[in-house]
Amino acid sequence: MEFNLNSLVRENIKNMTAYSSARHEFSGNASIFLDANENSFGSPVNLPSPLGEGLGVRFNRYPDPSQMEVKEKLSLIKGVASQNIFLGNGSDEAIDLLYRIFCEPSRDNAIILPPTYGMYEVCAEMNNIKTKRVNLTADFQLNLDAIEEAIDSYTKLIFICSPNNPTGNSINRSDVEIILNNFDGIVVIDEAYINYSKQKSFIPELTEYPNLIVMQTLSKAWGLAGLRLGMAFASEKIIDLMNKVKYPYNINSATQLLVLDALNNIEWVNNHITITVNEREKLKSELQNLPFIENIFPSDANFILVKMRGARNIYELLVSKGIIVRDRSKVILCDDCLRITIGTEKENQTLIEALLNYKAN
Ligand SMILES: *Cc1c(COP(=O)(O)O)cnc(C)c1O
Repeated sequence: MEFNLNSLVRENIKNMTAYSSARHEFSGNASIFLDANENSFGSPVNLPSPLGEGLGVRFNRYPDPSQMEVKEKLSLIKGVASQNIFLGNGSDEAIDLLYRIFCEPSRDNAIILPPTYGMYEVCAEMNNIKTKRVNLTADFQLNLDAIEEAIDSYTKLIFICSPNNPTGNSINRSDVEIILNNFDGIVVIDEAYINYSKQKSFIPELTEYPNLIVMQTLSKAWGLAGLRLGMAFASEKIIDLMNKVKYPYNINSATQLLVLDALNNIEWVNNHITITVNEREKLKSELQNLPFIENIFPSDANFILVKMRGARNIYELLVSKGIIVRDRSKVILCDDCLRITIGTEKENQTLIEALLNYKAN
């Protein structure tokens, strides 16, 4: 296959000039900053420094548009150079930017592999990009023949989610490699749940595949969904394009500061991954005893997809007890399935007790 990044990028994106912010034009050390029309007097609220230094953080200044400190720390953790990291306001920002960079509205298309994460399609629709849906197989793996058939000369992106949401399983690595080796567009591998999986990340393969983008997020195993920090890892050329089209100050100061602190706590993350996986296996074995459970699909993530007789009724029962799971029973290949996030030990126990009261007919 012939990969030519330049030929994939939309003309308007190639030709546009990126916004040059004040903080971009001068980012060195100085004592008086009168270049960005900020409020020189401070802000009415400050964040106490989590590191316990000085006054804490005032918010009157614009944040670092290139998020260098955060990237440098992530670079050490992920083993990827800073120039190969894009940071977004959640992975959702990265998904949206990829459509805007590579897909000409009402001409180009992207391939998505249902049942999968909903934002790939929502962002496509928002950008007036066609999606071609190629369903996963019954065991939630790639249908390579159908994918090959769906690819046409206007196919720019393929989104592969592994471990996949809402099914929980990892996609066979050798199948992903076949796509990487044969598709001359961009292959996006969404690894939002990779920390819970025994499978290895595709990040080390970035040196091998110029058409690869790996996405991860701090929203799941890192426990920071509220701070909104998504990551994309790719060639420097792809990252440069993403930086060109992003909003200049897409990651706010509070997020940058708190993430820097959070990244010191890998131990907390690893502990809770272990706890989550243990709870997942416990929950599975307890669910297995319930008469209305038909199948618990294998999971490499912090949730399980469970097929059960009367899924919608069970969903309603749980709601009436104040327990909310995700009803996926109308989703393709997920008939009668609920997606259950792994809770704390106590939460999972309460869930099981509620289900024990359910009399299947
Ligand atoms: C939760 C999730 C994300 C995370 O998105 P953020 O915008 O980073 O919170 C990304 N992809 C998948 C498949 C997810 O399930």
